[in-house]
Amino acid sequence: MPKSLLSKARVLIVDDEPSNVRLLERILEVFETKAIRSTTHARETLPLVLEFQPDIILLDLNMPHMNGYEVMARLNDAIPAEERVPVLVLTADITPESKRRALTAGAKDFLTKPLDHSEVALRMKNLLENRFLQLELRNQNGQLEDLVQERTRQVEATLQELRATQDAVVKQERLRALGMMAGGIAHDFNNALTMILGYGELLQPWMQATASNKELTYLRNIVAAAQDATHIVSRLREFYRPAENNEVREPVDINAIVEQAVSLTTPKWKGRSRADGIQISVITELHEVPAIAGNAPELREVLTNLIFNAVDAMPEGGAIILSTACAAGDRVAFAISDTGIGMTDDERKRCLEPFFTTKGEQGTGLGLSVVYGIVQRHGGSIEITSQKGHGTTFTVTFPATTAVATAGPQIMDTVERAFRILVVDDQEVICELIAECLKGEGHSTSIAADGRQALALFRASPVELVITDQSMPGMNGSQLAGAIKAHSPDTPVILLTGFGEEMHAAGELPAGVDLVLGKPVSTANLRRAIQQVTSKAVARAA
Ligand code: ADP
Ligand code: MG
Repeated sequence: MPKSLLSKARVLIVDDEPSNVRLLERILEVFETKAIRSTTHARETLPLVLEFQPDIILLDLNMPHMNGYEVMARLNDAIPAEERVPVLVLTADITPESKRRALTAGAKDFLTKPLDHSEVALRMKNLLENRFLQLELRNQNGQLEDLVQERTRQVEATLQELRATQDAVVKQERLRALGMMAGGIAHDFNNALTMILGYGELLQPWMQATASNKELTYLRNIVAAAQDATHIVSRLREFYRPAENNEVREPVDINAIVEQAVSLTTPKWKGRSRADGIQISVITELHEVPAIAGNAPELREVLTNLIFNAVDAMPEGGAIILSTACAAGDRVAFAISDTGIGMTDDERKRCLEPFFTTKGEQGTGLGLSVVYGIVQRHGGSIEITSQKGHGTTFTVTFPATTAVATAGPQIMDTVERAFRILVVDDQEVICELIAECLKGEGHSTSIAADGRQALALFRASPVELVITDQSMPGMNGSQLAGAIKAHSPDTPVILLTGFGEEMHAAGELPAGVDLVLGKPVSTANLRRAIQQVTSKAVARAA
């Protein structure tokens, strides 16, 4: 006997005759059917089916109030075909006519009374086999559907990841290609600009004495334009140049950098507020973070550029939030968010490219390129999220260093100090030009026309700083630097050279030279160079 099928089946018995019901129950007990529900009220069939969820219904045909045909009609109305439970009809006499009616109404098989145990079991078994197969199939279909859905989700996620990686690679490659191109252009331009500026500046004092005002104005315009171009080229260089071996890297407290950048840029956002009557608030949310190995002035430049852009993005005013936090993988992150105009997807993807700007004449498109170059050289990464009309967030992460930020990055405090400076150049005009410029800055100067004369002067009356040309007849600038250092190791020497950028980029700092400056040198650059070498000397002395 097929005990197992019957034993796990849920059976509903519907018969108005209680003795019939009991008989059936007893038969089922023999086959160990445990889940049995029965009723003598035909009307209760539908609610019982819904609640009990039987696998088979044993249904009497002749019942008062509602007969078996009507019960089946009700079930058919209420339950969709694919979920219908097989009905086994019980009847005392089965004429061909009632058999046809019952089959049409939905019956699956018949049992004639009086009931025979084994017939009941066999007929039930046939129907149940079918029923369980169907259930199994439905179950498998469901699982299959789930699986297909899950796989589809996985494929979609992978695709999205792939697209993001592809985007990132394309962006990276684009920036790399632009970097190479920018490098080539900058190099050639620099040579040309060196000539224009060099000769232009050489001409100036001479023309001041001889030329008309108009001619002098033309010359000044040439020099000023060349200086602007030099500035652009050097910004471009910050974008493409790779990290150098002798790059200054100290443990830097990024929180201090953020605070300094905020204070340095205060005039820009406070000024805007005052001038346009708009409100820009700057909020800092600084958390304790490890130091990063970096170059403080460069990191300040990153922050100030980002703050400037945030201010530019909020012509109606708004808020800038600067925050720092520890990031995954031993990294330190800072983020700057604004509530400004935001960027389109295309703008966001291209904003790091040199010369990409949406500010027309007002923009150079170099701010973020410089940011990118500096972050790149610090081993960091930039993530940008933005929504047009809803603000922008730049998140920059750097690898943390275990070293402790010592004195913290300091903004030069030696700006106002005056130094005694020796200027050495075989071209008298240049020598005087630089000396004039230094005097204008409050320093006192002496000048020498070549290395030997300089050394003699220095021995007779030591100065605090030497600025020398590189190419001079006899003793050149780096040889002079060596000789000065041999005599006085702590005296800083700045070397001026026509090939300054190239030499610097190749990491060739000649012995005895503290800093190489490319010619032509502007007053601002000279000032910065002096600050740099003298603050180092001050630190050494301390
Ligand atoms: P510039 O500021 O001279 O335009 P940048 O390189 O600093 O050059 O920025 C490039 C462009 O990136 C901007 O012109 C602007 O379109 C977009 N951008 C940068 N920062 C933001 C910001 N915070 N909100 C909206 N757009 C920004
Ligand atoms: Mg900018």
